[in-house]
Parts: sequence; C-alpha cells; structure tokens
Amino acid sequence: MNLTHIRDLSNRLCFALVRLLLWPLRAPRFIVLLGGPGAGKGTLAKMLESFLGLAHLSTGDVFRRERDNKTELGLKIQSYIDAGQLVPDAITIAVLKRELQRWRYRYGAILDGFPRTLLQAQLLDQLLADWGASVEVAVLLDPDEETLIERLSFRLTCSNKSCGRTYHLHTKPPKVPGICDACKSPLYQRKDDSKEVIPERLSTHRRESAPIYEHYGSELVVVKPTKEQTEQDVFSEVITALRARRS
Ligand code: AMP
Repeated sequence: MNLTHIRDLSNRLCFALVRLLLWPLRAPRFIVLLGGPGAGKGTLAKMLESFLGLAHLSTGDVFRRERDNKTELGLKIQSYIDAGQLVPDAITIAVLKRELQRWRYRYGAILDGFPRTLLQAQLLDQLLADWGASVEVAVLLDPDEETLIERLSFRLTCSNKSCGRTYHLHTKPPKVPGICDACKSPLYQRKDDSKEVIPERLSTHRRESAPIYEHYGSELVVVKPTKEQTEQDVFSEVITALRARRS
C-alpha cells in the first residue's frame, strides 16, 4: 500500500466518521407507500428499510398484533380487519401517533398502509408539521386488479410478527412448504386474504384512494409493477424514481 492509498483510505474514514456523527442531527424523513392490498407495499417497505436505514411502520401489522394479543384496542378493531373494512379514522390516527412517538421512529418512517383515507392524509400532514417535518414522497404501487387478486389469493405470510415475510404459493414458494425461509416460523394464510374478504378490501381501496393520490399531487411517484417484474425490478424502479426526484 503506497502513500496515496493510505491518504485515500484515511479521507474515506474521516468522511464516514463525519456522516456517522451528523446522522442523528438530520431531519426526520417520512416516505408514504400507497397501493391496493397485495400491491407489494410490505415487501418494498422491507427493502427500503434496509436500503435507506429508515424504520418501517405498517398500520396493518400493528392492528394484527393488537388483535392477536386481544388487547382492548385489538378487540375493538378485530371485526373491521376480519371483514376487510377500514378501521375508523379516529382510532387509526391515534394508533399512528402513538407508534410514531416510539424511539425507533426518531429518524422518520416508511409508512406502509397509512394513509388510507383523505382525512388520514390530511391529519398526517398536520401531525408531521407539528414536529417540523413533512411527507417527502408518496410512492404508489399500482399493479392491475387481476394481479392484486392473484397475489392475495395465493399469499402466505410468516407467523413471526417481527419477520412478517410474504410468499406466493406458485411464483415465490418457500424452500420448505409452510415454513419461512428466513426465520423458520410457520407460514399462514391471513384471514382477510380469503376469497370472501378480498372483494371488500379492493372495493374499499377503489373508493378511498383517488382523493389521496390527488392530495399528494407532485409528491406522488407512480410505479406500475407488471406480472413479469421481480421484487428486485420494482425496488430498482422505485429507487431510480426517488433519485430522479432528489436531483
Ligand atoms: P394491511 O396489512 O395493510 O393490508 O391492513 C390490514 C387491515 O388493517 C386493513 O384491511 C384494515 O382493516 C386495517 N388497516 C390497516 N391500515 C389501516 C388504515 N390506515 N386505516 C384503516 N384501517 C387500516
């Protein structure tokens, strides 16, 4: 190793150290993921989480955890989740506010499944404004409805709540049937991924989503995943779109 290499290495180390020291001072970032049930928000959120170093917050996961733990809140919301209906705004917003105050969201969050109504979008803006922050970008994953139905009907979800990976019985099966590749927990079919509940979820989405897209206006990035695209392809397309916006 010559002197130039050593200088280059020490410059890079200094730069990394400065970034590390300044990291806690950066403004919190909030990225919203929109799209119907089965659009791939959860999968994309997990990929963005490790890429951007920003915590993932799924209101659906929070609600399922409350329901499974039979908390007071869980008992209140169970019937909505199981029927594929939206939990009332007042409850959802209070839950979001409570969650965002947790330490893990101190640098912001990737919001998956929130907002789902115009009122939620408006109240999110207010809440973030009170904290001196705002939604940086809203990414809409918008595959066609046939794709959504096909994905939901064959979706398997990891029962380990801190893992939550999803599989597809045919196009992305686990290595061992019924077992999560990552954490080895059993997989299950979500109650609301059944053919009785899917139509209700899709019609709720159709009814509520247009005003939200309008609300985000120029902050909205639309990506239309096709059947042929892999999760990695969609992720790369989103990253390219986000970079194009920032440049
Ligand atoms: P998800 O896992 O995002 O598909 O959400 C599962 C279920 O949780 C939904 O069908 C709703 O019943 C409820 N839910 C999740 N997020 C929201 C939200 N932002 N507003 C109202 N209900 C929600």
